[in-house]
Parts: sequence; structure tokens; C-alpha cells
Amino acid sequence: MHCKVLIAGAGHGGLATAYHLAKNGVQVTVLESSSLYAMGLDQPDSVNLDCFEKADIPVPEEYVKLRTPITLCCNDDTTPDITQVVPPDGYTVFIERKILCQYLIGLAMEVGVNIVFNTKITGPIIFGSRVCGVHTEKGDYFADIVIDSCGVNSPLKTNLPEKFLINSTISQFDILHTYRAFYNKIPDCPETEPYKVYVFEDGNIGMQWIITNDDDVDVLIGRFNPYQEEDTTHTIESLKRENPQLGNRLIRGGHVTDIPVRQPLSILVADGYAAIGDCAFMTYSIKGSGVGYAMQAGRILADTILADKDELFTAQSLWSYQVNFFKEIGKNASIIALGKVLLTMLTTEDVAYLLKENIINQKIIDASATKNGLVNLITDSGVNTIKDKMLRFFDNKELQKKLRSITVWLAKLLPILNSLPEDYVREDVKKWADKYDSFYNSIRYENNNFDDSDNLL
Ligand SMILES: Cc1cc2nc3c(=O)[nH]c(=O)nc-3n(C[C@H](O)[C@H](O)[C@H](O)COP(=O)(O)OP(=O)(O)OC[C@H]3O[C@@H](n4cnc5c(N)ncnc54)[C@H](O)[C@@H]3O)c2cc1C
Repeated sequence: MHCKVLIAGAGHGGLATAYHLAKNGVQVTVLESSSLYAMGLDQPDSVNLDCFEKADIPVPEEYVKLRTPITLCCNDDTTPDITQVVPPDGYTVFIERKILCQYLIGLAMEVGVNIVFNTKITGPIIFGSRVCGVHTEKGDYFADIVIDSCGVNSPLKTNLPEKFLINSTISQFDILHTYRAFYNKIPDCPETEPYKVYVFEDGNIGMQWIITNDDDVDVLIGRFNPYQEEDTTHTIESLKRENPQLGNRLIRGGHVTDIPVRQPLSILVADGYAAIGDCAFMTYSIKGSGVGYAMQAGRILADTILADKDELFTAQSLWSYQVNFFKEIGKNASIIALGKVLLTMLTTEDVAYLLKENIINQKIIDASATKNGLVNLITDSGVNTIKDKMLRFFDNKELQKKLRSITVWLAKLLPILNSLPEDYVREDVKKWADKYDSFYNSIRYENNNFDDSDNLL
């Protein structure tokens, strides 16, 4: 191939794409705003190992650490905590983000990718209906295709005219504003569960975790509303009451960053343009996994670009990236996004009821930690077990009303997902995207008006 590929932002998805393309002889340049050594958040990430296999990227074995067990805490003083057993297959592991970034950069450079650091992109260069390059603070760069890997607040995606059909709207509950910090560990405190997740704080939607490591204590606070500094003070004080090992001295981190927690973008491609990673909302809303799915999408995108022998890189020739992404990742991610919408409707009492009545129990939490655990558990459970859970669930009318909506949503969403056009015809693709986007807007509306939405069915 003689084309020039420009990757905007050295995110996981962009670097994976760059690696596969350059390995196949394509000329690739990555533009990144950070310096080489400032790359990546200073934190460990939880990553599913099979994502490396699916992304066709070797696992950095020497940097992988087994994850500690997660304990779910309801924080209402009466509901017992529930701890997930870590599966022995090491399916989910911890990898330091900074190390993973350097590892991916190393892989890409080894196969000839040119990475230009300290270069901030300010917007796309557009000729007619095609993206032809990017403006940066240091000048313009032109290319045959631009891959947008600039993360959730990408200056490319947000500056594309409407005719490109890339929807850049971000609504409330699409983003979790997240504070992550590591504090000193106070020695000789009573033993506690190593990884506690609190799903509510004072009845408000959001979450926080506290992970007690050998040398420090890792705190994450996630809020759907804009993050306030008081959130940190208040939440740290409340965590300290139950976790006296949490010290006051900040060791690393301490920044607020955004995690997308919504369905993937409806259209990922335009003429001369493809979106990847957080920029295209490629996370599973409740589980996270954005690192792994961005890398996997990188392999899919590289395959699509390599298959375009005429090097046209139009929305039409890039469309199989979207189709294959939805087959491998996007369809499940869109379904799981319904769970996030549901979570925003639940109260502390609802979650406490599900745990106390054994509707959500140890078996379910453990199964969710393994590869096909939940599906196997449902298949292996006898009809009586499922019936018994349903009966207890139906005893709670308020909760029933909320959870009932998910079956209605599923019935509406599945036909939309199954009708994603296999071939690119602009009008058909636009119609599909409108249906997909309108569906999620409509359930957001239902959610905001839940109190008077008895007639959901
Ligand atoms: C606190 C926190 C905890 C998380 N924990 C996990 C976890 O445990 N597991 C997991 O899988 N995921 C986790 N995620 C999600 C994960 O970070 C993302 O899903 C993942 O990084 C997506 O990668 P990406 O390819 O979109 O690129 P990103 O990681 O978003 O990187 C974008 C890159 O683009 C660069 N860039 C941005 N703007 C410009 C610009 N204007 N010009 C040039 N370069 C630019 C940035 O510097 C950056 O290098 C977490 C996120 C946060 C915030």
C-alpha cells in the first residue's frame, strides 16, 4: 500500500491499529499531545487477557498481576457485603497503564510507526465531504485517512460538520466523571477485604471503590453529575470510617478524568475518517474494559484498511469496520448499556432487596468474573431456582416496575441491532443510526420521567 495513515492520539485503539498497519508495510504517523514519558494515567487497569488474543497483540506477561477479589458493599448498615472469588484462570488481571502504553508504543515503533509527541491536534482539515488531515498547534498534517483515537473529548469528532453523520452529542449519564488517587496506608489496622466497591453514596447514583494494596490504598470515586472538589473530601471521610487503613497523604493520581459509560457511537466512519476507542464509546458500560475493546477494534480497523486495495477509504469502503465491530463487541456493549440506564433508576433499598432476598448472590457475582460464567450459570440452574428467584423478585412491586422496563427495552433494541445494514448505502445507514440514537434518547426520557411512566408496557 502507498497510502499515508494518520492516527490522532496515541490511545490504545490507535496504537493497536498503527501496529497492525505498519507490520503490513503501511506508512503510519501517530500525533500525540503528551510527551513520551507523560503518556497514560498513573494507575493499574483491570483488563481481560483474551482481549490481547482478539487484538492479535502479544500479552506483556511480565507486567501482568492477578486481580484481587471484589467485595460489593451496599453501605446501608444492614445488607451483608458479598465478595467475588477470583477465578484461577487469571482471565481478568491488573496491568499498570503507563507500562502498557510504553509497551504498545514500543511494539508500534519496532514495526516502523512514526510517533510525534508533544503535538496537540486542534481540529480536522476538511475538503468537500472528506477528512484530509488535522490542524495541530505546530502546523497541518495531511493523510489519506485519519483515525480518531483522541479519547472521549476528541477535538476531531466534535468539529465534524453534520453531513459526516458522526453524532458527537454527549448527554447526562453518558460519562462517569472519575477521581482516582492512591493514598498512604496506615499500618497495623484490622484486616479488611482487599477490593471493596460501594454502589451508592448517601442514596446518590454513583460508585466508589477502595483497594487496599501492600503499600498504598487506591480510591476511585465516580459521579454522573459534574465532579465537585467537596465530593473527594466527603467521600474520603466516609470511606475512612469503615476503612481506617486509608491515610491522608496523596501518593499518586489525584486527577478527575472521564469514562464513557454508554452505547457505542451509531456511525464510526466517514470519508477519510474512522473513530476508535473512547472517542467512539467502545466500553462495556458496567464492566469497563475500554482498554481491551479499543485494542480489539484496532485489529478490526487495520484489517478493513488493508482490505481496501483501491485505497479509497470512503465511508463505504470503511463500513465493514463498523459491521465487524458491532458483531464482535458493539452489539453486546449496546445491550449492556441498558443495564447502566437501569442502574441509574435503582435506589440503595432496591439493591439491598436484591442482595437480601438472594436474587443476586455469591454464585452470580462469582460467575460474572469468568469468561462465560453468567451464561453457563443460567443454563445450569434448574427451572425451580429461576422460578423461585422470579417469585421473590415479583414480591417487590416497585422494583418489578423498574426491572420490567429492561425487557421492553430489549424487545425494542434487538431488532434495531440485528438490522444494522451489511452494505453501505448512505440513506439506509442514516436511517439505521437515527433509529439507534432515538431509541437510547427515548429510554433516557423514560428514565427521567420514571415516576409517571406506569404505562411503559
Ligand atoms: C479513572 C479511570 C479508570 C479506568 N479503568 C479502566 C480499567 O480498569 N480497565 C479498562 O479497560 N478501562 C479503564 N478505563 C477506561 C480506559 O481508560 C479507556 O476506555 C481506554 O483508555 C480507551 O483508550 P483510547 O484508545 O480511547 O485512548 P485514550 O486512553 O482515551 O487515549 C487518548 C490519547 O489521545 C491523546 N489526545 C487527546 N487529545 C489529543 C489532542 N487534542 N491532540 C493529540 N493527542 C490527544 C491523549 O493524550 C491520549 O494519549 C478507565 C478510565 C478512567 C478514566
